Amino acid sequence: MNPRRVLLKLSGEALAGSSKTGYEEATVKEVARQVKISVDAGVQLGIVIGGGNFWRGRTSNAIDRTKADQIGMLATIMNCIYVSEIFRNAGMDTRILTPFECGSMTELFSKDRANQYFKEGKVVFFAGGTGHPYFSTDTGIALRAIEMDADCILLAKAIDGVYDSDPKVNPNAVKYDEISIDEVIEKQLGVIDLTASIMCMENKMPLAVFSLNEKDGIANAMQGKINGTIVTA
Ligand code: UDP
Repeated sequence: MNPRRVLLKLSGEALAGSSKTGYEEATVKEVARQVKISVDAGVQLGIVIGGGNFWRGRTSNAIDRTKADQIGMLATIMNCIYVSEIFRNAGMDTRILTPFECGSMTELFSKDRANQYFKEGKVVFFAGGTGHPYFSTDTGIALRAIEMDADCILLAKAIDGVYDSDPKVNPNAVKYDEISIDEVIEKQLGVIDLTASIMCMENKMPLAVFSLNEKDGIANAMQGKINGTIVTA
């Protein structure tokens, strides 16, 4: 892999570091340091961030799912505004695009606009997921990666790759260096949710899964050095 345009997914929890909620500035600054190496070298980078450090659609049974998901989508926008500012502080130029209007806080997503920003060397944040309830930021990143003709999706996770079973439960779980998306779906390995997996399969979008805790893991992945698992499409 030697990607020219990549979409990187960070979970909301990844931003929270040891505090589990909100933001841990040092953690996000470290992400910025790592991505800047490739951005400076000309890699076009899109970022999708989850919302789990604040809220998930399924957080409460007392709230209508659509409304709960709206809160989740807004959480992803807060996260993108935060990370975008840390990236700017690290010397990168950024733009935040959302699938719905957020006044002057973000800009409305369009493929042309995103392409223009990529051409200008800006890091593009795809915030607010798909803009629809009952979806996830997994689906959001699959959709944007396909729409934007990205070379691949990079998933920085708490786990260091795709295993044949849950290594927390099964000490003999085996990590795949490479696996096809068809097999991920068939074996329900849960790399990304099923809707997103099927979109990647149908549109031949490869993924790479690696650990956020690996030293220089993001920098390596952006340079095509995957120490986790490559998911072929
Ligand atoms: N969400 C949504 N539509 C989208 C993307 C996200 O409704 O297209 C909501 C959903 O409630 C989700 C939350 O935003 O739980 C945070 O997104 P994330 O993908 O991080 O959810 P998680 O996998 O952490 O539940």
